[in-house]
Amino acid sequence: MSSVALQGLIVSEQSGFFRVDTEDGQSFVCTLRGRMKEEASTSDLAAIGDRVLFNIIEDEDGVAVRSGVIEKVLPRESVLSRAVRTTGKRGTNQAEREQILIANATQAFFVQSASSPGPNFRMLDRMLVAGESSTIPRLCIVVNKIDLLPDVTEIEAAFEPYRRMGYAVLFTSAEQKLGLEQLRAELDVEGKISIFTGPSGVGKSSLLNGIQPGLGRAVKEVSQYHAAGIHTTRDSVLVRLAGGGYLADTPGIRTMTVWDVEPDELDGYFRDLEAISPSCRFHDCTHTNEPGCAVQAGVEAGTISRTRYENFLHLRDELRETYIAY
Ligand code: GDP
Ligand code: ZN
Repeated sequence: MSSVALQGLIVSEQSGFFRVDTEDGQSFVCTLRGRMKEEASTSDLAAIGDRVLFNIIEDEDGVAVRSGVIEKVLPRESVLSRAVRTTGKRGTNQAEREQILIANATQAFFVQSASSPGPNFRMLDRMLVAGESSTIPRLCIVVNKIDLLPDVTEIEAAFEPYRRMGYAVLFTSAEQKLGLEQLRAELDVEGKISIFTGPSGVGKSSLLNGIQPGLGRAVKEVSQYHAAGIHTTRDSVLVRLAGGGYLADTPGIRTMTVWDVEPDELDGYFRDLEAISPSCRFHDCTHTNEPGCAVQAGVEAGTISRTRYENFLHLRDELRETYIAY
């Protein structure tokens, strides 16, 4: 290979073909050098958001075509992933493998709706755990469809514990265009890579359309196209917004299975528990039946949300099962 490697950003992936955009606005379809390695790996060697070095393939006459080979994936600043069941040859012989939802995201927006459907705190708490373990610098919660509530006091109170933990909580209505300007201002900034994720039906596409006309539809069409594809389960694409920010949506996610978090370290990914657990009498406190447990005392006193605590216990049990299975 005589050519000089170019640098680009992976903006989509399907069946081992990566679309890579360069800073000067060109776009190439690339494959990974040594694709067999990807199949055998317990993780994705490349994913959307990855910055890569690639070589352009030349045809027989030495003319460069719009395709290339990815030579190197540059070190990642953050990785948001989930665990998925392995299929086919992928993931060596393990039952689960890591699916990278996005690399190098600078912020994540976890979307819920205030009503129809009401907030799913269990899913939100899992997403926050994935977010915490991803090292994405900024995690935000979006509560959409507030127009459906006659009074927002209750829903604000329900999310108040999250605000106190340090998460930004935005209340929006895609329908009545409330909070969209703020959302756009946060998203569409040159250099920012954001991901939108949450249960279906909460209004993610509607919010995206409100931010930039046609955006939600563009994302949905891609996901349907992918769903019809042969074996890909990765639906995300990175879309460049008018102001230079990049945005990914994850339309295909129904469950969030936490990847690579040990059950005993789970409390470190619950900000509210992490803040208080150093005060537990035992440093390896499981926060279930130990005397002097600050977490249980916090739940009793109402300073820690009981729902959060129950979601924590539930998720930890689940991680223990997975853990023992290997
Ligand atoms: P997605 O699956 O998360 O992308 O959700 P959609 O954007 O497809 O929206 C699901 C449904 O909720 C649609 O019928 C939307 O019209 C409706 N919807 C979305 N946002 C709002 C909102 O802010 N208020 C109300 N009342 N309905 C909304
Ligand atoms: Zn404890």
